[in-house]
Amino acid sequence: MEQKQICVYPGSFDPMTVGHLDVVKRASGIFDEVHLGVLDNANKQNTFSVEERVDMIQRCTDAAGLGAKCSVWSFTGLTVDFARRQEATAILRGLRATADFEYEWQMALMNRRLAPEIETVLLMTDSRYMYLSSSLVRDLAYHGQDISEFVPAAIVQDLQQRFGQK
Ligand code: ADP
Repeated sequence: MEQKQICVYPGSFDPMTVGHLDVVKRASGIFDEVHLGVLDNANKQNTFSVEERVDMIQRCTDAAGLGAKCSVWSFTGLTVDFARRQEATAILRGLRATADFEYEWQMALMNRRLAPEIETVLLMTDSRYMYLSSSLVRDLAYHGQDISEFVPAAIVQDLQQRFGQK
């Protein structure tokens, strides 16, 4: 039997946006399985806890009909170690504007050095999501703006509740 092609998609996902979900959808057409990994980084102050983010992503991927191909995990430590534990052959990342490029390039080269058997696969964002980031969504929600266009419907309420909107 042929080996399953698995990728890990690591990130903060604080919160997941429609840009992230679009990357997952497209990757699920390329890979047999997409394992999303929420980085549990004790040094970073997040709006949603790791458990909340895992649960929110799960609801988003289920609602998008991607449940069978996707699984959601949390991890600490290096992405390459997470990828090896998941038996992944690739690390998936998304690329927006050129501003992402420098950073992604640096990480991809370091990850290749640490784990030459694992390829980094970068998917270009859809032009609609080029300027979309979790931090922008958090700012908008904080200022009481409607964020329903920017995050999957399954988690709009979570944001409204967290930022105190009705
Ligand atoms: P990190 O803190 O690891 O950058 P993020 O949750 O911000 O975590 O992003 C995870 C990955 O998703 C990164 O590769 C990032 O470039 C990508 N990404 C974020 N927003 C978008 C978007 N709107 N379109 C495509 N890719 C995106």
